[in-house]
This record gives sequence, structure tokens and C-alpha cells, in this order.
Amino acid sequence: MKTLTLTRQELNRGSLILVNERYPLPESVAPERLTPFFGSGVLLERRTALVLENLFTALGCGASLISVSGYRTLEEQKQIYASSLAENGEAFTRKYVALPDCSEHQTGLAIDLALNREPVDFIRPCFPDEGICARFREKMISYGFIQRYPEGKENITGIAAEPWHFRYVGLPHAAIMQQHGFCLEEYIDYLHLFPADGRHLEIRIQNKNFEIFYQKTNESDGSVTLSLPSSLPFQVSGTNTGSCVVTLWR
Ligand SMILES: [Zn+2]
Repeated sequence: MKTLTLTRQELNRGSLILVNERYPLPESVAPERLTPFFGSGVLLERRTALVLENLFTALGCGASLISVSGYRTLEEQKQIYASSLAENGEAFTRKYVALPDCSEHQTGLAIDLALNREPVDFIRPCFPDEGICARFREKMISYGFIQRYPEGKENITGIAAEPWHFRYVGLPHAAIMQQHGFCLEEYIDYLHLFPADGRHLEIRIQNKNFEIFYQKTNESDGSVTLSLPSSLPFQVSGTNTGSCVVTLWR
């Protein structure tokens, strides 16, 4: 076994970071962790961009889908919120636009995509359940992407169903969420059933065995000390809810 200590700052990132009205963004993303998606003006967190580029290449959908919005700064989110309030009113805006610092677009892990068809609606892009959009949805799970705001989960996510908004959570998490029909809030809750010092979640996804558990962070300084098998590849992600999630490849 080996011991690993991670600071609060190191746990403010990772593919399972939850950002919503209840859990605002813990800290803004450092510019060096962002990269242009396919060389466009849309920025994404580096790994998210790379995996999404691989997914686009596998689907051959480069000309059929447009990236409408990826990473946003706090200032940009403020502007979008204010201009939607002015143009669309409060009821619409509260339904479809997250409050500043409560938008996961500020993590660089989320992207809004649209079918390449004029006119493109910036707030509610067209992403129908047919053709290339349906094929994207079918394949995205195996690349670690989820539709973040599904229909029927509005009372949990606080955001209306958004068929165009995709979020990178990585594998095996996207596949487990799909199996159970969980949105991200529900999945983080579910993982709390598998604490470091209890039974871990053991699961086989795409012919690979995974072991997953969560550990609470220290209340005093937000850090965490983990005991991990020395020989296994692993990933640690903060959750922004006072815990982190460890994924081991067995
Ligand atoms: Zn979005």
C-alpha cells in the first residue's frame, strides 16, 4: 500500500466535480488547464477536449455538429445571465441559465452542442434525437460523457431538461450513471454508500474491472489522506461536496 495526501486545491478539480446552485464552483480553472476544442474559439479542460475530439473523429461528425459554448469565465456567465434576463425574462432564465459561479461551464468539463443548421439558438441549441445527434448520444457514454440535465430530474438538478448540454465525467462513471439512470447529484449520493473503510463498489465496464470508493475530506483544511494499492492505476477526483472519489483499475 502507499499513502497519498491531496490538498484542498488539488481536490477542487477532477471529472466528478459537482457544480450547481447548492455547490458553487470552488475555484476558477487555471488557464493552462484549458485548450481550444479542435482549434476553435471554444475552450475546454484539456482531457475533456481530447476525449471529445476522439469521439467526434470516431463519429466523423466534424461538419455536422457545432460547439456552441464550452468553458466560460465568471464574467461571461454573468453577462449571459444578465442578457437572458433582459431578453427572455426571469422565468425562462432561471430554467435554462445557471447563476454565475453555479454553472458547470465554468469548470471546462461541459459543452453545448448544436446540429449545424441555421439559425443556431445560443441558449437552447437544437440537438434532436435523430441522425448524427442520436448517434452521438449512443456513443458518448463509452467516451465518458453524459447528458447532464435529463428530463425528469429537474427537481434535483435545478435546471430544465437540456438535450444539448454534455458533461465529461469519465469512465466508468458515465456507464454506471446510465445503468442506474442517475443524474450527477444522484450518482455522488450513491457513491457515499461505498466509503474507503467499508465495502467498495466493484464493477465490470467495457471488459475492465473497476473498484470505486469515496472518502470524506478533513473538515479543518479540506485535504485527504488515502491508502492505495501500490500496483494499481488510479484516479482521484474531488466532488465539491466535502469528499473525493477514488477509482482503481483492477
Ligand atoms: Zn450548457
